[in-house]
Amino acid sequence: MTTERTLPTINEAMARFRASLLRRASAVAWVILIIVGAQAVRSEVYIEPGFYAPMIGLTTLLVISTAVRWDRVMATWGAPWVSCVWMLALIAGFTALGAVPELAGAAEPILFGLAAVSGLLLIWWTHALVTVVLGAAISYLAFQAGQADAIADVLAPVLTVFVVAAATALVGFEFEKEAVVSSGKESILEQQRLDFERLYAVSATLARAESLAEIVPHLIGTICKYLDAQVGVVLLNDTDLNRLTVMSPIWVNGYPLETEEVTVDINAPSVVSQTYRAAKPIYVRRVDDHSDSHVLLKDLGLKQALVAPLKVESMRVGVIIVGDPYVGDFTEDQLDQLGSLAAPAGLVLSQIGRYEAQAEMTRRLEEVAQMKTDFVSTVSHELRSPLTSIIGSLDTVNRPELAPPEPTSQQLLLSARRQAGRLQRLIEDLLVVSRIDRGAIPVQLGPIALKEIFDEVNRVVAVEPKITIDPPDTTVEADRDHLSRVLINLVENAAKYAPDSEIEIYGWQRGTRGFIAVVDHGPGIPVEQRERVFERFTQLDQSDTRSKGGTGLGLSIVRSLTDVMRGSVRIEATEGGGATFVIELPLAATVGVG
Ligand code: ADP
Repeated sequence: MTTERTLPTINEAMARFRASLLRRASAVAWVILIIVGAQAVRSEVYIEPGFYAPMIGLTTLLVISTAVRWDRVMATWGAPWVSCVWMLALIAGFTALGAVPELAGAAEPILFGLAAVSGLLLIWWTHALVTVVLGAAISYLAFQAGQADAIADVLAPVLTVFVVAAATALVGFEFEKEAVVSSGKESILEQQRLDFERLYAVSATLARAESLAEIVPHLIGTICKYLDAQVGVVLLNDTDLNRLTVMSPIWVNGYPLETEEVTVDINAPSVVSQTYRAAKPIYVRRVDDHSDSHVLLKDLGLKQALVAPLKVESMRVGVIIVGDPYVGDFTEDQLDQLGSLAAPAGLVLSQIGRYEAQAEMTRRLEEVAQMKTDFVSTVSHELRSPLTSIIGSLDTVNRPELAPPEPTSQQLLLSARRQAGRLQRLIEDLLVVSRIDRGAIPVQLGPIALKEIFDEVNRVVAVEPKITIDPPDTTVEADRDHLSRVLINLVENAAKYAPDSEIEIYGWQRGTRGFIAVVDHGPGIPVEQRERVFERFTQLDQSDTRSKGGTGLGLSIVRSLTDVMRGSVRIEATEGGGATFVIELPLAATVGVG
């Protein structure tokens, strides 16, 4: 089951070369056989058994040799034997043919050729054997030809065979070395390609997932598949508890399996904690049932395991375990592979973990904000009824016919009425704010003539603003209640913060937009505070504001209401000092056009 990374043997490395050499040698042997055949016909020796017996043998050998799938045969352990037998058979056949005097000239040269082929094709001891046989065959042919007397005539061809054999053996040896090296390189490249493929599969799994619950089973599933392991578990560090927590589900036999919460102390002697602390992968060849350090591995039913740290650069975030319920055939290479697969996993797991923690925090904050809004809304509603009745009673008691005669009592009643009024405004503001927060603010847009709404505001506020509208029939698209609340708020603020100044309200239009400006000549609002005052509970000068009975909610309501009416509000400086609040709204006639 393991994926081992071993260098190829000489046999494997040379298999392709030897197969092609055999094919080519067979082809050459065919040609020579045909030449020898032709020679036999010419010299009319073809009917002699000395010719046709070896001829039939050689033809059969060459037919087989042409049909055989040498690539396959040469990759097996029997390759040296098969090629040695093939050589000996050829030598025997051609020597027999060479023994026929008329054919000696055509058959003999192939023996020299075979000496060369043998050097490249055979391993050293079979080559040596073949060389000796070749030497004997050449000597035999020389004797047959009746040259035995002239020793030199025998020695020369025999020596030539030996020299050719030695030279090609040297070439063959060099060639083998090269082949092993380059084939080794090829297998390393192949291994790297597999490593990349694995890394890509893990990265692709990681890129698809959006939550830890989704990513963990995919991730360990992919890693187990590549390392051919049956069990996979991811543990992430819970920094608050200083414990490694098993992420559910774990991976067992090709399926995710939900687990209960299991944690391991980071400082425990367990091999899992050790891997985390040392930030180095560990290969547990044999899980020991009696060892404390193998406690979690034992619980998982593992007999062998690879444990690697999950890291983000130098920061440790957890541990990954893969293992099998039987004893050891993992390799050190697989441990390395787990290390490299764990690298991208650590990064993404920690990012998603952090993202999920943040999302959980946001969700809780939203819950709290919702609870607060609900609470404010409920309390405001509950306060409104009794307050209305208190105000009603105070107004009644304040009537001249019922008012107490003593001035002090009158004063106290008036003060109580003022404070009740403040409370009422605060409650109204809070109710509007909670409605805005719930997105439950009703909006009814319609054409509103500025003149009408300004007059309405004028009737409600305690001051008397100077009103200018140009052109006088300027009509905006807005919600009557909201716009009126916005203007009352701004005019009352002006009256409050610029008590001695004249207040003006301007209305005008430009293009498709209508504009309203509420202008005072009081202290104004510094440029850097002009956005801040629209935030809730923002009051520029606490002591001053408090004395004026503000809540810090008014302008935030103004902004929210202009927003829901598809308008905007901004602050400018009044010429000569003071604040100018400019509201911009769509003009009634143009609504729906742009
Ligand atoms: P508040 O209830 O305090 O009036 P607002 O939201 O209406 O709350 O106003 C926020 C702050 O902006 C006020 O406390 C005040 O300091 C400042 N402010 C508002 N209107 C004016 C104005 N016309 N002139 C000067 N300062 C103002």
